[in-house]
Amino acid sequence: MKRLLFPITVFFIMTIVSCSQNKETDAAKSIDISNIDTTASPGESFYRYATGGWQDANPIPDEYARYGSFDKLREENQLQIQELIQELGSQDYAYGTNAQKVGDMYSIGMDSARLNSEGAAPILPLLQRIAEAESKEDIVRVSVQLSKLVSNPFFGFSVGPDDKNSSMNIAHIYQSGIGMGDRDYYLLQDEHYQNLREGYISLMQTQFQNAGYSESDAKRAAANVMKIETELAQAHVTKEMRRLPEQNYHKMLLSELDTQVAPFVWDIYFDEMGAGDIDSLNVSQIEPVKAAIAIIDREQADVLKDYLSWKVINSAANYLSDDFVNANFEFYGKAMSGSKELRPRWRRTIDAVNSSMGEAVGQLYVEKYFPAEAKERMLNLVDNLKVSLSERINQLEWMSDATKEKAQEKLGTFIVKIGYPDKWKDYSSLEIKDDSYWQNVVRASEFAWNEMMEELGKPVDRTKWYMSPQTVNAYYSPSSNEICFPAGILQPPFFFMEGDDAVNYGGIGVVIGHEMTHGFDDQGRKFDKDGNLTDWWTTDDASRFDERAKVLVNYFDNIVVIDTVRANGTFTLGENIADHGGLQVAYHAFQKTEQAQSGNMIDGYSPAQRFFLSYAGLWAGNVRDAEILRLTQIDPHSLGKWRVDGALPHIDAWYEAFNIESNDPMYLPKDERASIW
Ligand SMILES: [Zn+2]
Repeated sequence: MKRLLFPITVFFIMTIVSCSQNKETDAAKSIDISNIDTTASPGESFYRYATGGWQDANPIPDEYARYGSFDKLREENQLQIQELIQELGSQDYAYGTNAQKVGDMYSIGMDSARLNSEGAAPILPLLQRIAEAESKEDIVRVSVQLSKLVSNPFFGFSVGPDDKNSSMNIAHIYQSGIGMGDRDYYLLQDEHYQNLREGYISLMQTQFQNAGYSESDAKRAAANVMKIETELAQAHVTKEMRRLPEQNYHKMLLSELDTQVAPFVWDIYFDEMGAGDIDSLNVSQIEPVKAAIAIIDREQADVLKDYLSWKVINSAANYLSDDFVNANFEFYGKAMSGSKELRPRWRRTIDAVNSSMGEAVGQLYVEKYFPAEAKERMLNLVDNLKVSLSERINQLEWMSDATKEKAQEKLGTFIVKIGYPDKWKDYSSLEIKDDSYWQNVVRASEFAWNEMMEELGKPVDRTKWYMSPQTVNAYYSPSSNEICFPAGILQPPFFFMEGDDAVNYGGIGVVIGHEMTHGFDDQGRKFDKDGNLTDWWTTDDASRFDERAKVLVNYFDNIVVIDTVRANGTFTLGENIADHGGLQVAYHAFQKTEQAQSGNMIDGYSPAQRFFLSYAGLWAGNVRDAEILRLTQIDPHSLGKWRVDGALPHIDAWYEAFNIESNDPMYLPKDERASIW
């Protein structure tokens, strides 16, 4: 599937987690004390103390690289969706309805006999189109077609808000086109990365052969792809640099592209895109686009065609016969993440249906599973958290009144989205039919593309959702200054309809505070209340913010995640600030509740203790070594263990709740604790 420029900050990364078949049966207990390891010391590793019982009782299933309490929630979610789809199967639905599209896409994805008999046939027409390209112009044209239907080769194109005029959608081009996710995979010299590169080359050889290439052609093609991707990776901007919005904004006229980026057949490129009318655009990263154009100019057409063919094969692999699927899993699942077994087909198919028709599934999902009272209770929580953040901003001793006023304005204009959108997407122009699984995936991709192109040059639709309702996650979008909590996350262990306040404030309350704080993290603080990239800070306040943020950067830089590998404090800064702020704001709001004031114990734990146990419980989980390395490389969030053991030493209330003393290993002297929001 095509990847668009990521406009939002999410609560956790949507790794392609795999799933076990075990049906989760135990009803949601708000805090299950068997999850606690009472033999551990809370001041040594609070993570172990709060979640050790869970970890011991839930070894990682073979299909997983990481398995945690919210992976269990996602499993449950998939079961619910499967049930929905099976109900559809028992009904008579008219062709062209959402029910037909969801039901038929699922059936065709489940038909393993058919998929295996088709082999590579579904991708041959696209490969043929690439093979027929002769001139460099043809190569550019077919590349644009792949951007629409498959994934972005060379560099990416998308439509989205203009960072400096956030009410208007403009075109963006940006670095893209590599198959291993991050430049470091192509460039780092450690053995782990060298092995992965070898694995990637061997994956390509296998898949080219599965697609009908001879052994020697497959070898040649893999070498060509690796050469191009390595050159692209060398030019790619680092993930740390991409966190700086002002460094990734280069708006220019089309007429300036030749001089400011590189001479190229820009007219052909934009015409083919369907963007022939635009006069300006943002080039998010200039050097990688330059490098891509140099490659297109320099390399022989045949070399470029190998690269384009790989984009098709690699994007299609999961929707084809088992030989493609298994080879894909060997590399992306086993070598990169450490999973041992492929997930069951039905779970993979539900993922595909969700990503092709998210809101069509979502509409059915919320009708059946989302109680209206949950939305009420959430609105109330969000209001309470807003008041707390506002009070905390007023009390900040490091910030001037001028900046405080702007911060309050920004907080006051947050758009809040809960559960599901008011208006649903119209899928009537998407056809799901009986040609092949892959063809349906391609049409869904084209549907999303057309939808995006419709927005080019038009005002931004602020009612649009960037996540489907069934998603177990949440986000903040800086350009629309909105926080969003889909129905999928409004369930245990995040949200308990019947739970006590301590548990809900420590769970979904922290998630709400986290997303709000993203509006004021190292990136979010650079956008104003209208979502524009403008500096609303006094110089002194900005440098005091940086100084305070630096405390978290240094602290996380020193965390050893495995062997000699350390966490990346700069890359994870925004998320660590958001976790810190989320905990502070949610705890502050919780203090106002009757339960917090009563001090009444439940199961032997005080309200404050339950708050922190609930928070830690969100991150209960186990993770494989290879996945620790992968996540440290590509995930801007700290690992689950460190979202607990790295975040809590900076929270004064946690010390009080558990009597943490200066001789406890997690203890930090007060003047070494972060204090921002
Ligand atoms: Zn976040």
